[in-house]
Amino acid sequence: MYKWQKMFSLTDKYSHEKTESYWQLQRQNDLVESITKFSQLNTNKAKNVIIFIGDGMSIGTTTAGRVYMGQKLGKNGEEHTTTLDQFPHVGTAKTYSVNKQTPDSAATATAILTGVKTANEVIGMTPATNCTNNQDVETVLEKAAKLGKSTGVVTTTRIQHATPASAYAHIPQRRWFSQVGARSGCKDIAQQLFDKRNDIQVLLGGGRVHMHGATDTDVLDEFGNNVSGDRIGSDQNLIQRWKDAFGDNVTNLYVNNKEELNSVAPETTDYLLGLFAGKEMEYRLSNTPRSQVQPTLPEMVEKAVKILRKNEKGFFLLVEGGMIDKAHHKTLVKYALEEFSEFDKAVQVAKQLTSDDDTLIIATADHGHVFTFGNDGPRGRSFSNVMTNQNQRWNTIGRYFSNTAYGNGPNFNPPAWKIMAGAKRQAESNEYQPLTAIKRAGETHSAEDVIVYASGPMSHLITGVHEQTYIAEVVSHAACLGNNADDLEHCRVSA
Ligand SMILES: [Zn+2]
Repeated sequence: MYKWQKMFSLTDKYSHEKTESYWQLQRQNDLVESITKFSQLNTNKAKNVIIFIGDGMSIGTTTAGRVYMGQKLGKNGEEHTTTLDQFPHVGTAKTYSVNKQTPDSAATATAILTGVKTANEVIGMTPATNCTNNQDVETVLEKAAKLGKSTGVVTTTRIQHATPASAYAHIPQRRWFSQVGARSGCKDIAQQLFDKRNDIQVLLGGGRVHMHGATDTDVLDEFGNNVSGDRIGSDQNLIQRWKDAFGDNVTNLYVNNKEELNSVAPETTDYLLGLFAGKEMEYRLSNTPRSQVQPTLPEMVEKAVKILRKNEKGFFLLVEGGMIDKAHHKTLVKYALEEFSEFDKAVQVAKQLTSDDDTLIIATADHGHVFTFGNDGPRGRSFSNVMTNQNQRWNTIGRYFSNTAYGNGPNFNPPAWKIMAGAKRQAESNEYQPLTAIKRAGETHSAEDVIVYASGPMSHLITGVHEQTYIAEVVSHAACLGNNADDLEHCRVSA
């Protein structure tokens, strides 16, 4: 008996894969699906557009995330199919920014949402901006709003964070969330968000702290306790001003926690502002009292789509799974994969609530992370598995090595005794941190391409390798947002 045959006999989880007929049927079905897909291209007008951005969702993250989700269902994992895996059209995008090989979320989300690449840390403007020289670039959300579509922004980070802000803000520095530190002449991100209140029907995420003043005593956190914000000056309670800003005929609701969000009736709600955290929302895996009172990303997406889809002119929605990135920066791999799982479930919710006939869904990442997955492991190996190499001496680092790793980050070159003593205990903990190759306080983004998944009208245009700016062009084309819409046949149909 060969070694691999022995290995197979240990489990029957993949015994069905050991026959030729299994793979024959599998690949033939796959081919038939592809032939059907390419013989019936969907050239409808995209009445609705949803862009999902998994912040930092590198290709390694989607693969390890697939295995992680599959293993939670009791499978080996590799053969599992995520919702993203089921998208009919896929391409890749080049993520570099105008000034950096390794980009940040400001530059990349701006590329996706405006069609213009800019410098790191700049949002919705060219790098030549000084706030007064008219360097703003229009976003697809702004274009959609101009055409009378409803729009929305949903995120697990603060709503003023780089990726969500790239849908509605124009600012040279992504950290100017409120007036704190902001250069004069540049309007802070939260203020810009408030000023766009008529155009954005649904806003859900964190970031309460930037929406009210330090002396305001009437703003509550998600537990109902008084909190103070960081806005400077009087009359800076933008939450209260938002509540008061709409007329009697408009139903605008402000919600603070999961329970309040659940009680919102989409049929009768025109505007919804939900701020569920002072800054970022909790990781789903953190399981804190705070995470219990915050809604999940799929829950927020469900409410958003149900409110927005009432508009017969259609809608534009940006959804960010923002905590994938935060977890990777700390090399908390299990947290990152759980956030990926949440992201994938949120995409599934959006797919279920809309139709491929009129809704273009694009799911992508703004940039990757220096995260790797794989280490000569057998089928079904966990992301947190720490392997032993019998060929190495017991006290050398090479004797123990993990199934995931980071190119740089905090867990650099730990002594062998520490890995051995803690390996099993550590690998089983949610806070498991894989080894890193280069020492750094925080792990960095990668410069690699990211995947772009697409379904619905014109989704077949998402194929091949493109600049990230191409995504905005496809959205504009499919949804008839551009100036050339009159010339396009698919744009001449009503609705
Ligand atoms: Zn990041």
